[in-house]
Amino acid sequence: MKDKDKKKETKKEKDKRKDMEKKIKQEQKRKQEEKEEKKNEIPHDRMLIIDKDKCKPKLCEQECKKTCIMNKAGKLCIEVQRTSIVAEISEELCIGCNLCVKKCPFSAIKLITIPATFLKLIVHRYSRNGFKLHRLPIPKAGQVLGIVGANGVGKTTALQILAGKIKPNLGRYNDVPEWGEILKYFHGSDLQNYFTKLLECNYKASIKPQYVESIPQVFQGKVKHLIEKKDQKKNSEALLDLLELRHLLERDIEKLSGGEFQRLAILVVAIQNVDIYIFDEPSSYLDVKQRLTAADCIRDVLTEENYVIVVEHDLVMLDYLSDLICCIYGDPSLYGIVTMPFGVREGINVFLAGYNSKENTKFRETALDFDIKVLMNSII
Ligand code: SF4
Ligand code: SF4
Repeated sequence: MKDKDKKKETKKEKDKRKDMEKKIKQEQKRKQEEKEEKKNEIPHDRMLIIDKDKCKPKLCEQECKKTCIMNKAGKLCIEVQRTSIVAEISEELCIGCNLCVKKCPFSAIKLITIPATFLKLIVHRYSRNGFKLHRLPIPKAGQVLGIVGANGVGKTTALQILAGKIKPNLGRYNDVPEWGEILKYFHGSDLQNYFTKLLECNYKASIKPQYVESIPQVFQGKVKHLIEKKDQKKNSEALLDLLELRHLLERDIEKLSGGEFQRLAILVVAIQNVDIYIFDEPSSYLDVKQRLTAADCIRDVLTEENYVIVVEHDLVMLDYLSDLICCIYGDPSLYGIVTMPFGVREGINVFLAGYNSKENTKFRETALDFDIKVLMNSII
């Protein structure tokens, strides 16, 4: 009887020991996973951005300045008066405590965190605490560069810089560097070559604007007069038929519809003899057939020497006409980060996934997923 009890006790102990070993292994595995996660983690940095449209020092009690712990300690971290146009925050003094963000009655301040590596890559900044663009899309001669991203993250700023209309200030909005320094900054990348051509070879750019309805603000008269004025390549005849614009030649510009404006704007850019062709959202107002025609028309302007850059939301069109794709992501009106160029499929997949595995950067919480069933139900 005694022996039987002893045997039972031993089995219990054995089970206990096994249980304990299992727990230790689980704990070791958890710690290992934590270690791996930390290893892969990218250090982030915080910074404050003020939305200039929302900040209203005349209508508030300057709560930001009153609550700032650095100001309370006697430092000039937030500077604002009732007469100021906008509050100014010193990024050097700010410790990112978030108090001013919570206290501002107009939600004008935003604390953002971005991977620290991007802080050194500021290509342009409009003002203190203003929108920042990190990196630029990299165009390549003889290839169509597609750009995709949400609104307000810097696509237009990037296009204006690539067209030579805005000088990139490398973040020094109050001390804009000379071109020599800018070229040095881009040294070793294709952008150095690109900007050198823009400056030394006097490269010219033509941009199809995003908002084509604004064309009558810069040109009044008949459609044919605008085409005659811009037809440097003398190829308008063929494009008039391709883009179904011939019947509109005698029409006054301001009487065109959205789709007609769009097709005319594409034609006007395509008939100019320039080195850089930029098309900002060429698919708006166009149906599927017209989009494909527009894409063909855009691809036709490409030569081995020139640059073609297209910003587009329609991923099918982007897939159809691009050779390379850069994604731009960020926080609208606050900051934008441009990815390095990808092949077309990879670029579109990165955009849809909201995750750039090459830089281990997640820029959207959820992946964009097209539910085929829902799509089919809406068609049928
Ligand atoms: S940031 Fe907010 S609290 Fe500060 S001045 Fe502007 S509106 Fe007022
Ligand atoms: S985050 Fe904190 S330290 Fe920075 S400006 Fe706001 S209140 Fe001052």
